[in-house]
Amino acid sequence: MFETLSDRLTSVFTSLRGKGRLSEEDIDATAREIRLALLEADVALPVVRAFIARIKERAQGAEVSKALNPAQQVIKIVNDELVEILGGETRELRFAKNPPTVIMLAGLQGSGKTTLAGKLGRWLAAERNTPLLVAADLQRPNAVTQLQVVGERAEVPVFAPEPGNGVGDPVEVARASVEQAQHNNHNVVIIDTAGRLGVDSEMMQQAADIRDAVSPDEILFVVDAMIGQDAVNTAQAFLDGVGYDAVALTKLDGDARGGAALSIRHITGRPIMFASTGEKLDDFTLFHPDRMASRILDMGDVLTLIDKAQSTFEEDEVAKMASTLASDDDFTLDDFLQQMGMLRKMGPISNLLGMMPGMSQMKDQVNNVDEKDLDRITAIIRSMTPAERGNPKMINGSRRLRIANGSGTEVSDVNGLVTRFFEAQKMMRQMKNSGMPGMGGAPGA
Ligand code: GDP
Repeated sequence: MFETLSDRLTSVFTSLRGKGRLSEEDIDATAREIRLALLEADVALPVVRAFIARIKERAQGAEVSKALNPAQQVIKIVNDELVEILGGETRELRFAKNPPTVIMLAGLQGSGKTTLAGKLGRWLAAERNTPLLVAADLQRPNAVTQLQVVGERAEVPVFAPEPGNGVGDPVEVARASVEQAQHNNHNVVIIDTAGRLGVDSEMMQQAADIRDAVSPDEILFVVDAMIGQDAVNTAQAFLDGVGYDAVALTKLDGDARGGAALSIRHITGRPIMFASTGEKLDDFTLFHPDRMASRILDMGDVLTLIDKAQSTFEEDEVAKMASTLASDDDFTLDDFLQQMGMLRKMGPISNLLGMMPGMSQMKDQVNNVDEKDLDRITAIIRSMTPAERGNPKMINGSRRLRIANGSGTEVSDVNGLVTRFFEAQKMMRQMKNSGMPGMGGAPGA
């Protein structure tokens, strides 16, 4: 799902890695790349235009957090805008004040309505509802039997006309099902309607008649994500013909591009409520725009890290660190200690540093450092005199012994730390010489 877009966006972010500031040209080039990525993902043109305009506006704007470097900021902006385009907040199912809540499914034949009815029924039943599935698709041979099979698997009762009784009016079936639900205490009714292979006026009229007969609380337009841009056209036709409150996207598991998912909300103004990701009954979830966005960016962990970095570090602290890194003064053990402290605040997720643009050097530096290691390092550095911390070269054999005794460690620990520090110092010099920004797009970086 969304593999194409993920790959393209990841390479856009990689190309920003190590940039200290984004110039106008950088922003233009980035916007161009993102535009191509979206077009390749089969996103509708008006959606692409709106998306790119927002990205550019925000990237140019003064919305600069000291805790993030430019690449991270672009990731954050793209993520926010993806969430927005996917619908922003998660759209929950609305229950009627007076049960039963009537949910009507509409969509083309093969879009996955019957399967979705079963999934939705099971999902609702798991939440202590008492749903009733209704077979109002009397057009397609076997549609009723298919729903009965699905209902049995989902362990949700099905309301269907008796076969061979000459009952052929889906509007009547729908109306009767609501009465039945009232009698039998079903708090939700899920009506599966007929679909055709293409949009046609008779089908649309039938769906509109069912709608008028039962006044659904929610009409869900069910659409196969694999049909890409066609989904957008069909969505528009159903909007005009029947109208609906929300969208259920099916077969997301087979959709490598994601064009339908990314376009439908913007084009129809209706949120995506459910996502179906396979043929099994459990392959079904409420659609969460934020989770979907981080999945597209394939950077869920990095985004968590960015959030955490922003909330954990006082801006002052980040600025101080960054100015140390940017200054001509050499990197000292005090700086080293401060860096360790910052990494420690981030906890186990410091492992993820390597994934962050511009931060991989930091990660190498603390590679294989666990919590106990950090304790030991802190104790050792605290046992040094200020002069030793500022000029670690003066730490000779007798000083090492004194430091080891003072910190309750072994001389070998002190040796290890000093060696590690000199490596870090060398790396910091290299970073500075190559103009690499330190942490954050901070002043002077
Ligand atoms: P309907 O004609 O709209 O009722 O569509 P069906 O529910 O009969 O689904 C058509 C086909 O799509 C069936 O073979 C389903 O098993 C399959 N299907 C439905 N939803 C999904 C899904 O999310 N992923 C995949 N891979 N197949 C699905």
